[in-house]
Amino acid sequence: MQFTDFQDSFRHKGLRKKLVDFLRSKGIHDEAVLEAINQVPRHVFLDNAFLELAYEDRAMPIGEGQTISQPYTVAFQSQLLEIKKRDKVLEIGTGSGYQACVLEKLGAKVHSIERQRKLYEKTQKLLQAMKSKVATYYGDGTLGLPAFAPFDKIIVTAGAPVVPQSLCEQLKPGGILVIPVGDEQNQRMLRITKQADGELVTESFDNFKFVPLLGKEGW
Ligand code: SAM
Repeated sequence: MQFTDFQDSFRHKGLRKKLVDFLRSKGIHDEAVLEAINQVPRHVFLDNAFLELAYEDRAMPIGEGQTISQPYTVAFQSQLLEIKKRDKVLEIGTGSGYQACVLEKLGAKVHSIERQRKLYEKTQKLLQAMKSKVATYYGDGTLGLPAFAPFDKIIVTAGAPVVPQSLCEQLKPGGILVIPVGDEQNQRMLRITKQADGELVTESFDNFKFVPLLGKEGW
């Protein structure tokens, strides 16, 4: 990923540093994740109208009724994924592309799928211009991406009513799926680890509020 064509001023860098300090104070402790947040310029993923708010810990509109997740949420999900260099990661809900770039910065090979065509097109252009290696796809991510399965890690960045069966099937033994599951108002962040024998072990973390995961195995 190269940001040479995008303005990343000392002010932006300073604001990012403050954001990282804030995330650390809120309990994010994975230094690799904090460094990735420190390096990826979140303002590049936002419309101009929201530039001043890019480093606040807030979700922000990105068009088509969708949002870029709050930095704390991005850091929390990234931390739960325990990314190792060259992990093959599937993201459901490309949105702005920011979470995908944070995962890329952590050394993952990222495949990301988005069901809103306009967002998919806009973000694909941005990622290309940034020389990102994130591979983007248009489609229903609740069905996963069978052509590229299995994955070391899968992250869902929209709120699911249930854990999609297809995603569990597309996880490698030893793999991790991080997904918010609940009703439309409130979801529990789940981390599901596939054991070597295929058994799924679920851990439950804090409450979050995401836009809904739509699709065949979603809402
Ligand atoms: N990860 C994104 C980012 O960094 O900007 C934030 C994603 S936003 C909170 C959730 C996204 O999931 C939206 O762009 C929405 O269109 C997308 N989405 C919802 N259901 C989906 C599905 N079945 N397949 C793929 N994307 C989906």
